Amino acid sequence: MQNPYEVIKAEVYDIIQESPLIRTLRLKPEKPIEFKTGQFIELGLPGIGEGPFTPSSSHYISETMDVTIMKTGFLTEHIHKIDPGTLVGIRGPFGSHYPLEKFKGKDVLIVGGGCGLAPLRSLFLSMLHDNKAYNSITFLAGAKTPKDCIYKDEVTEWRKYDNVKFIRAVDEVPPEEEWNENVGVVTTLFEKVKIEVNGNPVVVCGPPLMMKFATRDLLKLGFKEENLYLSMEKKMYCGFGQCRHCIIGGYYACKDGPVFTFDQIKNEEAIWE
Ligand SMILES: Cc1cc2nc3c(=O)[nH]c(=O)nc-3n(C[C@H](O)[C@H](O)[C@H](O)COP(=O)(O)OP(=O)(O)OC[C@H]3O[C@@H](n4cnc5c(N)ncnc54)[C@H](O)[C@@H]3O)c2cc1C
Repeated sequence: MQNPYEVIKAEVYDIIQESPLIRTLRLKPEKPIEFKTGQFIELGLPGIGEGPFTPSSSHYISETMDVTIMKTGFLTEHIHKIDPGTLVGIRGPFGSHYPLEKFKGKDVLIVGGGCGLAPLRSLFLSMLHDNKAYNSITFLAGAKTPKDCIYKDEVTEWRKYDNVKFIRAVDEVPPEEEWNENVGVVTTLFEKVKIEVNGNPVVVCGPPLMMKFATRDLLKLGFKEENLYLSMEKKMYCGFGQCRHCIIGGYYACKDGPVFTFDQIKNEEAIWE
């Protein structure tokens, strides 16, 4: 394992303002950072602080890294003020990853909402790298309103693959916004889209309530608990099991997670908080 305290400097070489509250930083680290999709890094702004974020780029690329960040508080407010050229620090990668080997040959369902799409974009792009290794990939993506949808510039490209479906839904459409795709919370897509349940994996990431209801509905549809992968974004600091902020029952979300199967954590307390 690499030194978990080592900070690798990275230059922000581009910034994509995805939505009013979410931006993607495109980073060029001073040396390549290898990670596996689903793992997270600690991203720090000198003099401000650091926080856990999941790379949103493919794990087949290590010379650059994208990180998609929602403005929620002190650190992320500052991250939303930086310009290209800024140097940030990266520690990691840390934690567990999505087991792509187990997904090969399967119909893979991906369900995400809000900034939960960040790790899922990494998973999706890593799978597109050799998309034919998977029978099909269906990505259901939710946002509050059309202007909150992220990765807008990539959707057309993503929809070109034969065995890939990228389907979006927004909770509501304000009168001043245009939208000709689905309306309703992302879980309403489960009834509208053909889903192959039989022994297939499903990966979910999003706000806690969305994860809770998606899990309930996916189990009802017949997905097995051991095939349902959740990214648990518990409050964490060190990233490697020392500070104990991110305990979920007998697990550390940073070390044993953030990717867990529902089967692993279903009996733990307060998993959706
Ligand atoms: C494994 C993991 C991966 C994550 N990936 C992403 C990502 O790709 N994109 C993204 O926008 N956000 C991600 N987050 C959440 C992100 O870490 C927090 O939004 C960020 O640290 C908030 O910092 P703040 O100072 O701006 O907010 P604060 O004012 O400190 O808090 C705002 C909110 O963020 C939560 N939060 C604060 N500190 C942490 C922390 N250390 N760990 C987790 N949550 C915290 C608080 O509980 C609160 O709900 C991830 C969290 C985890 C644990």
